[in-house]
Amino acid sequence: MSNLKGHEIRLKSRPDGMPTEANFEYVEAAVAQPKDGEVLVRNVWMSVDPYMRGRMVDRASYVPPFQIGEALTGGTIGQVIAAGKGSHFAVGDYLNHMLGWREYAVVGPQAMPQKVDPKLAPVQSFLGALGMPGLTAYAGLFKIGGFKAGETVFVSAASGAVGSIVCQLAKAHGAYVVGSAGSDEKCQWLLKEAKIDKAINYKTEKDLNAAVGAAFPKGIDVYFENVGGKHLEAALNHMRQFGRIAVCGMIEQYNNTAPAPGPSNIIMTIPMSLRIEGFVVSNHFNLLPEFHKEMGTLVAQGKMKWRETVVEGLQNAPSAFLGLFKGENFGKALVKIGPDKAV
Ligand code: NDP
Repeated sequence: MSNLKGHEIRLKSRPDGMPTEANFEYVEAAVAQPKDGEVLVRNVWMSVDPYMRGRMVDRASYVPPFQIGEALTGGTIGQVIAAGKGSHFAVGDYLNHMLGWREYAVVGPQAMPQKVDPKLAPVQSFLGALGMPGLTAYAGLFKIGGFKAGETVFVSAASGAVGSIVCQLAKAHGAYVVGSAGSDEKCQWLLKEAKIDKAINYKTEKDLNAAVGAAFPKGIDVYFENVGGKHLEAALNHMRQFGRIAVCGMIEQYNNTAPAPGPSNIIMTIPMSLRIEGFVVSNHFNLLPEFHKEMGTLVAQGKMKWRETVVEGLQNAPSAFLGLFKGENFGKALVKIGPDKAV
């Protein structure tokens, strides 16, 4: 395996506004041998996530920016095909690690590898409902949103990887849940499969604010914010007293070339005594045990469903990523890099 080569996707240039395929480069590169404590992994599944847009910008943030000419990184599942001396993992193990956007990866501790059990669930679910997006939903709803059983919950991007889990966690605890999504098909899934109470197609709804108001005659206790803009304004207008807004994401703004105006009605925080709090999932890994327990129970009871949109082939990963900003994904957006079994 000393002459092993594999493809990877590098950042070719930084986008201005909506990224395009020209910002990425698909190249073949030599693959190094694992040193002591490392393993060589052939990647099978890869996640594309909205936060990666922020990493294409050259600025300090909670994760460092991607560098031009270097392979991108991100959550991925692969199988160990060779192990260096003293490694904690064996050939054949499936690992969830951070060296995505490439066919092969030499994985050491800095790639944060975690072994996943393919008998527990299809391995790719550890990139979605049972992985980072699922934990984001859990931390945002319970810890940041301070959700209590029986409250009313509004979720934007509700059919997505994070939103669909928020909806079902809240339903499982007796909430009244309304979600917004960008197509009738997504709304139908939310009603029939995720079993939420009302779904709003924000693309066809002429007056989002009125639709949110009509859906919440008694107001919103928790708004799980994934989108920003008009969604945030509509939520602010219809929050109940002591309501909480968990700011998870604002995807509407990720490709803006100038700062978006703030919500015109932030003043509503005063009379309604609202709390607005942003969060980053990586600060909540301590919740993993209780998250796994909760999800294990709900999955076993058939009360937790999720969808995946799979794009085949590493070379198509940029297109899968761009699709996130056009609503092309329905549920978790994944790229299938190679066959399930690498060894
Ligand atoms: P999704 O699976 O929800 O995919 C993104 C979806 O956002 C699209 O499918 C689309 O759905 C919707 N969308 C895209 N552009 C717009 C727009 N302009 N206006 C309204 N909706 C839009 O992604 P994730 O579940 O992975 O992420 C959801 C949110 O959570 C994102 O904002 C992300 O950045 C954030 N996030 C934050 C984390 C944290 O630690 N704070 C961790 C993980 C995610 P539709 O068809 O409904 O428009």
